[in-house]
Amino acid sequence: MSKVNQDEIVSILDGYNKEDLTIATLGSHTSLHILKGAQNKGFKTAVVCEKGREVPYQRFKVADEYIIIDKFSDIVNEEVQEQLKEMNSIVVPHGSFVAYAGLDRIENDFYVPMFGNRDILRWEAERDLERKLIKDSGIRMPYKYDNPEDIDRAVIVKFPGARGGKGYFVASSAEEFEERIAAMQERNWIEEEDISHAHIEEYISGTNFCVHFFYSVLHDEVEVLGMDSRFESNIDGLVRIPAKDQLEVGLDPSYVITGNHPVVMRESLLPQVFDIGDRLVDAAKNLVPPGMNGPFCLQTMCTDNLEIITFEMSARTDGGSNTFMNGSAYSYLLFGEEMSMGQRISHEIKKGIKENKLEDLIT
Ligand code: ADP
Repeated sequence: MSKVNQDEIVSILDGYNKEDLTIATLGSHTSLHILKGAQNKGFKTAVVCEKGREVPYQRFKVADEYIIIDKFSDIVNEEVQEQLKEMNSIVVPHGSFVAYAGLDRIENDFYVPMFGNRDILRWEAERDLERKLIKDSGIRMPYKYDNPEDIDRAVIVKFPGARGGKGYFVASSAEEFEERIAAMQERNWIEEEDISHAHIEEYISGTNFCVHFFYSVLHDEVEVLGMDSRFESNIDGLVRIPAKDQLEVGLDPSYVITGNHPVVMRESLLPQVFDIGDRLVDAAKNLVPPGMNGPFCLQTMCTDNLEIITFEMSARTDGGSNTFMNGSAYSYLLFGEEMSMGQRISHEIKKGIKENKLEDLIT
């Protein structure tokens, strides 16, 4: 199957009535602020919604149109694509959209104009590509171990797929690694085949900042729109138990994300934040044209040396952007008004229409 052709996407866009565009997305993840932001900017909105999950969109009144599907993955079906195009839709991707539609379908046969760069989504999903992009940017990442025998300090062990931290563990020697693997297998949290794909990296002891960036193609500028930190179960509960009791309770730590909270950083750290955002955008332009256009997120740890180390990237709006649906400290600095990530996306689309540059924002 051949890749979705940009000329064809542009010709679909040319056929749209620009006075009557719809901003559409899959009803999940960050769709509430994507749709609300579009409404704020005067666009019509559509939610592609799994049957039975309509309530939040109805009650928050963010969707003008509903395309009801039996299951999330139906968003890539031919009829749904036709309905979206009839509404002059631009689809905004998010984490659930990528997970349910699937990268192959998005890259090869989802012929609906999408905001941002559809080709870069694979670069966050595959650990080797993600590492290449971050490394090429010259951004500090945790050291990676190819062999458990080489473990010489605290490491965190992760497994493939989007599993939200389930089954991840910390170890500091090869023996401990083997013990923990056996414990995870006993709990049925990992399968035999996961073991050879275990990703082992340096454990960074620090504080967590997930930085929500927006790269504006029209301004050629990287904006910091918000920051969050994560609630993770059960590790957050475990650390509330005094150290002397932790061993006795015998709980195995896990890193399952359960929520997000907005945070701000020490002001003196902000130059590093802009530096890593700028670097990533520069590297992405060369490696995955047209680049890291639109929203992206770098998940970082800040050490006690005040060094920001990036352990993960989202190449689209990240779930933590839900912490600033009505704006953040940083979006206030930049815009002086409420500005969610969803609203920022629609703001860019609106400007693209005005300046006749919409095709630069879409793939
Ligand atoms: P996933 O993308 O599968 O959810 P992450 O890479 O985001 O997994 O890791 C889940 C959590 O594990 C992070 O939010 C963080 O708390 C912790 N973590 C991940 N990598 C590191 C690291 N190198 N050092 C310390 N903690 C880490």
